[in-house]
Amino acid sequence: MPQQDDRNSRLTTTAGAPVADNQNSLTAGDRGPVLLQDWQLIEKLAHQNRERIPERVVHAKGWGAHGMLRITGDISHLTCAKVLQQGTETPMIARFSTVAGEMGAADHERDVRGFALKFYTEEGNWDLVGNNTPVFFVRDPIKFPDFIHTQKRHPRTNLRSATAMWDFWSLSPESLHQVTILFSDRGLPVSPMHMNGYGSHTYSLWNDDGDRVWIKFHFKTSQGHRHYTNAEAEEVMGRTREGYQEALFGAIEEGNYPRWIVQVQVMTEAQAGELPFNPFDVTKVWPHADFPPIEIGVLELNRNPDNYFAEIEQLAFSPSNVVRGIGHSPDRMLQGRIFAYADAHRYRLGTHYEALPVNRPRCPMHHYHRDGAMRFFGDMPNADAYYEPNSFGGPVEDRSFAEPPLQIEGPASRFDHRDGNDDFSQPRALFLLFDDGQKARLFANIAAAMSGVPDAIAERQIELFRRVHPDFGAGVCAALDALDPQF
Ligand code: NDP
Repeated sequence: MPQQDDRNSRLTTTAGAPVADNQNSLTAGDRGPVLLQDWQLIEKLAHQNRERIPERVVHAKGWGAHGMLRITGDISHLTCAKVLQQGTETPMIARFSTVAGEMGAADHERDVRGFALKFYTEEGNWDLVGNNTPVFFVRDPIKFPDFIHTQKRHPRTNLRSATAMWDFWSLSPESLHQVTILFSDRGLPVSPMHMNGYGSHTYSLWNDDGDRVWIKFHFKTSQGHRHYTNAEAEEVMGRTREGYQEALFGAIEEGNYPRWIVQVQVMTEAQAGELPFNPFDVTKVWPHADFPPIEIGVLELNRNPDNYFAEIEQLAFSPSNVVRGIGHSPDRMLQGRIFAYADAHRYRLGTHYEALPVNRPRCPMHHYHRDGAMRFFGDMPNADAYYEPNSFGGPVEDRSFAEPPLQIEGPASRFDHRDGNDDFSQPRALFLLFDDGQKARLFANIAAAMSGVPDAIAERQIELFRRVHPDFGAGVCAALDALDPQF
């Protein structure tokens, strides 16, 4: 395709043949009809029909840029991951997104934001697929499709349904923590640059001695937290639906590169056994007082993509992508996502999605996966080595990359994940951090979002807020009353 600085060069078909006329179809006489023989016309129409791929079911609307991770702290005693060694710089790419809206949704909607990072490390791609909040609505992946249905359109009305959202949340007390964050100021950042990122899940680090610790990753915005109120966001959306793209793309074009300070929280395996709550429960944070954040580096975004579709829409993250020295944890939601993310991309992009330029590792890769749609990359140097084991010098495993064994115990069963779980203390700790203004906005945001919800569902949710803190329940009641005195 001709580039901006190349516009006088010759137009060709996709097969490279120069095009003699890009203005007129091939017709029988000057009044038509068009001849089927006009393969240039057919090629153009056929390509246009195929310009869309399935959008992501969740996180469809996104914005992204290239950048660099620089490690400044020394955690070599915790991990052998090359990407996390002091002084290492690793090229990376980030994609931010809203969760519920479709690809054309307005940017400034109240929603959780995706904060997904792909690091092109020397030992393979490492993807950290987080959010701008440290917790999530559900802790068991079997609830995820139900939860997402409540965020999407009603099957009959084709409208978003506040009733469905609050019905699900009021029946799922584990959602309280995330709901409190969503309706607080941080639920509506002014741009991707003005929010934190959190790996959210518990991951692990391991070193050459085979010692493992549990770990949480945090990315603290250097631009400062900035948020819109609902009223401000409505005003902005009246002017532009693309405010995040404009802000992020514009800042990077102008050389104002956004940065985040990278922190980790570390928990030993022994500490995990002594905690009063499950450290692998993604509806919970690790209190800073017990697990102080340690600064280990800085993330900077400094290059806009040249082609949004190729580099951001085709960008494919999966928590399954970890590298030596970084591992997973028993977090159930993480395990669900290890399957679901890669599966989404196989459906959305195709079997060989990881060979697309933006997803391709920057290090050599040698695997035995073979054919399938869009197999556009060549074979390994020795074509006879197309299975394993073989006698023809094909690639072999390297046991030095093995993760230390993880002890697991207990009977396989469907344990009730709500049984004995304290879903109230951590939202309470957050609620008590808010000043009066933040609390008033929290109450008003919740009341506005509950508009039209049947009383029984609203009452059930308010009872959950009361259990977080009596002032929380009372504040939401008063805000609902102010909107509708009949409530
Ligand atoms: P701390 O007081 O040590 O930490 C409070 C944290 O809350 C800070 O990380 C701060 O993030 C964040 N915070 C401050 N204001 C808001 C807000 N309006 N909305 C969302 N987050 C906010 O206490 P704890 O570690 O004991 O945590 C108390 C509560 O804070 C938790 O229950 C949780 O809800 C929330 N929180 C905790 C985090 C953690 O990893 N421990 C992370 C984020 C939130 P920042 O430093 O970026 O301003």
